[in-house]
Amino acid sequence: MANIIVQKYGGTSVGSPDRIRNVAGRIKRYHEEGNHVVVVVSAMGHTTDELVDLADKITKNPPKREMDMLLSTGEQVSISLLAMALWDMGVPAKSFTGSQIKMITDGNFSNAKIQGVDRSRIDAALNEGSVVIVAGFQGIDQNENITTLGRGGSDTSAVALAAVLGAKECEIYTDVDGVYTADPRVVPQATKHSQITYEEMLELASLGAGVLHSRSVELGMNYDVVIHVRSSFNNNPGTLVVNEDKIMEKLKVSGVTAKNDQARITIADVPDKPGLAAVLFGDLSSKDILVDVIVQSSPYNGRNTISFTVPKKDLGLALPILESFSNSQGAKKPEINEEISIVSAVGIGMKSHVGVAAQMFKALAEKEINIEMISTSEIKISCVIPRIHAETAVNKIHETFGLSKNS
Ligand code: ADP
Ligand code: ASP
Ligand code: MG
Repeated sequence: MANIIVQKYGGTSVGSPDRIRNVAGRIKRYHEEGNHVVVVVSAMGHTTDELVDLADKITKNPPKREMDMLLSTGEQVSISLLAMALWDMGVPAKSFTGSQIKMITDGNFSNAKIQGVDRSRIDAALNEGSVVIVAGFQGIDQNENITTLGRGGSDTSAVALAAVLGAKECEIYTDVDGVYTADPRVVPQATKHSQITYEEMLELASLGAGVLHSRSVELGMNYDVVIHVRSSFNNNPGTLVVNEDKIMEKLKVSGVTAKNDQARITIADVPDKPGLAAVLFGDLSSKDILVDVIVQSSPYNGRNTISFTVPKKDLGLALPILESFSNSQGAKKPEINEEISIVSAVGIGMKSHVGVAAQMFKALAEKEINIEMISTSEIKISCVIPRIHAETAVNKIHETFGLSKNS
């Protein structure tokens, strides 16, 4: 049996005809070495953003089903062009949409979860000698509606295919040559990891490190697929995302992130009664709204204040829930602040080091940045701060933990 290689190329890597040919050249080399190559691609460049803007010009409230139908078209363009580029180089190639390979998902439009893939059509194409090219980011639900997996979801399509096909590794080709200690666009002094644990990568991705879709990391961890993040523009070795037992030295802090897509909601004067938080957060979760940092004050005069963050994109859905909660409980009107950032430090070594939180707070204090909320887990510390200070904060925290080049 030939070795199966699964590769994913992101939007920038297939952003122009020249880049598509460049990607085809790389795939050709793997194919000529006798491997079975399965390639997942994203839409070209900023296509998906442009499609979102187009829908916005038609309506402010697009039906989710139609939005997924629209957004899935971007990947159909890039898979066919890449297949043509391969044929042009003498390499047989076949492109497939999510529905053609039965990438079955639940029916949660715009954030669908993969439930299974039928490998028979992929195997047939590989066995006849073709490179298989699959549209990332898309699937179909049980009723054959087209679904999408959430922005950045092609990574998840790729790791899911690697798991189903039994590949040991999934290569994610992008416009950086690996996972850095911070977004290199924000922190020029960031350094590259040769390896990082799934656990850390999952936290980093969930906390704003856009280099990998967080669900791809979860799949890699659950199905034991090593994720190799590398550049499509050079041959440098990238970063391997692996199990903790493969890493000798556990860093106290391995990455710093900022997440700018959240809004903070504060509801004051909530009666101090059992079960109210359960009602509020239960109602939000019934609409699939993911609540992140939560802080509740100690009761004063039988009342307290609840503050929490939700994705800005879900504010429209959340507002009626919040208002009806406040009205029914006699609490104050919900206050919303969209100008916040959640900055975080992540590291598996935090499990065994003390004082990490204090060090992070000191770094922010030295820049006179006010911390509005704090949340911690075993391997991360997050602070909500004013959005305008996010870049300064990330750079300062990065330097404080000795992550910068030459430090
Ligand atoms: P693709 O289109 O290939 O999926 P993305 O834009 O989704 O690419 O992800 C790559 C980008 O992720 C990089 O250009 C970089 O700016 C950003 N990024 C954010 N955090 C990190 C990090 N810790 N390490 C590397 N890149 C990061
Ligand atoms: N094209 C989709 C997006 O822009 C999926 C991806 O790039 O992974 O979100
Ligand atoms: Mg991406």
